[in-house]
Amino acid sequence: MLHPVDAHHHPDSEQRIAVLLHALGGAREGLPASRAQVERVHEPEYLDLLASLERDTWLDGDTLGGPTSYEAALLAAGCAIAAVEAGGFALVRPPGHHALPDHAMGFCLVDNIAIAARHAQDALGLERIAIVDWDVHHGNGTDAIFHDDDSVLFVSLHQWPFYPGTGGPGTNDDTTLNIPLHAGAGDAEYAASFSELVEPTVRAFDPELVLVSAGFDAHEEDPLAHMAVTERGFEELARRSSQLAPRVAAVLEGGYNLATLPRLVEAALRGFDAA
Ligand code: ZN
Repeated sequence: MLHPVDAHHHPDSEQRIAVLLHALGGAREGLPASRAQVERVHEPEYLDLLASLERDTWLDGDTLGGPTSYEAALLAAGCAIAAVEAGGFALVRPPGHHALPDHAMGFCLVDNIAIAARHAQDALGLERIAIVDWDVHHGNGTDAIFHDDDSVLFVSLHQWPFYPGTGGPGTNDDTTLNIPLHAGAGDAEYAASFSELVEPTVRAFDPELVLVSAGFDAHEEDPLAHMAVTERGFEELARRSSQLAPRVAAVLEGGYNLATLPRLVEAALRGFDAA
């Protein structure tokens, strides 16, 4: 254990989902992913470890696990799968994009969007998938999972240098587009990145499905980062992302200001609907 367990002050509070359910109508509950669905991405030994936790335990420096973590992870992944099947927005926690095949990282237990992408390929028969990750942190887990896989294009816009330290200049290849942005970047920088890099790259890849790792911690009032994206900016990111393929689904990643999170998610929903 790296430091005393104090789940009540963890930024990934259960209140994040509570405020969303309070503000948004029409949400429906998801079902847990199956073990086989999660094993498309994660090592069985790691999942056994998650399932065996009998008390609160730090799984890495900032990721808390406990007796309900395995169930929570399966439910979050299952909601991401349901979002892919129905074309929706999975409002889940824990987030997923830092999780690696064999360990938890950065609040994330399993990589929900990677599990959803594999489901789309294996169960829905889709071949080419683009993942657009606009969470303020680099989606290092998703990047690592698909780095050598040419069937999945991974695009990430993130503050850099910043946690987790990956995704800087020189990390791109044919199906990896990392866009490191300086602290303080806002709507104009994100829009320019979409016009100059994201849209040409994704259109050239010609995906059948776009999956969005929708984090809201690049917002100007988020407590964990230093970007300046506005509510209107998130609506625009959603609108432009959903125009990149015939199908789109989104999965919640970060976003830690409980006062702003509901209206940011609502703005993204407007953007997805407008496309
Ligand atoms: Zn984040």
